[in-house]
Amino acid sequence: MNISVIVPLYNEEESLPELYAWIDRVMKSKGFSYEVIFVNDGSTDRSWDVIRELSEKSENVKGIKFRRNYGKSPALYCGFAAAQGDVVITMDADLQDSPDEIPELYRMIMEDGYDLVSGYKQNRKKGDPLSKTIPTKLFNATARQVSGIHNLHDFNCGLKAYRKEVVKNIEVYGEMHRYIPYLAKNAGFSKIGEKPVHHQARKFGTS
Ligand code: UDP
Ligand code: MG
Repeated sequence: MNISVIVPLYNEEESLPELYAWIDRVMKSKGFSYEVIFVNDGSTDRSWDVIRELSEKSENVKGIKFRRNYGKSPALYCGFAAAQGDVVITMDADLQDSPDEIPELYRMIMEDGYDLVSGYKQNRKKGDPLSKTIPTKLFNATARQVSGIHNLHDFNCGLKAYRKEVVKNIEVYGEMHRYIPYLAKNAGFSKIGEKPVHHQARKFGTS
């Protein structure tokens, strides 16, 4: 299998059909074999019903369900354990990240030899308030300093691509999803890069 897309989600029932249709369109247009693993992190809305409906219609859709809300890190960790693709993509469920980025992320791992490529939400500054952009800048400056990974602007972007070996060799728990490039580097994966990605406002629900 070429690609596993892992989508951690908490109360995202409205976004899921559109997100899946978009991913499927991109994969089919490039001829990729793939799976989408939706990790339902204790949603209290109809998200799980929607995932079941999608999985009945398509064998590419898989679901993991948590009994309660554990957080994004445990959701990613369980998705990583289940992933079968050569390249593993993580993506938020809220349609803020674009599935159109997947083919180039895949190419960077397979052809350019990256272990991990992190999305960089360059256009974010335009819409977001200073109360969000200033803490983000401070966070990233500190993360660069502590991790020694100086070429990343945006550690916390939900859209990332990994060589399969990377996700099988890191343990993401607590709030560690914000520092995954650091975990990868510590596990011996040193070719870590970045790709500027499009980023949109949330279409449904709240952050
Ligand atoms: N999410 C999750 N568990 C949580 C909180 C969030 O799985 O406890 C998911 C959420 O549904 C989304 C992604 O993690 O797919 C990012 O969350 P959000 O959009 O709220 O974060 P932001 O984009 O504001 O950083
Ligand atoms: Mg979001």
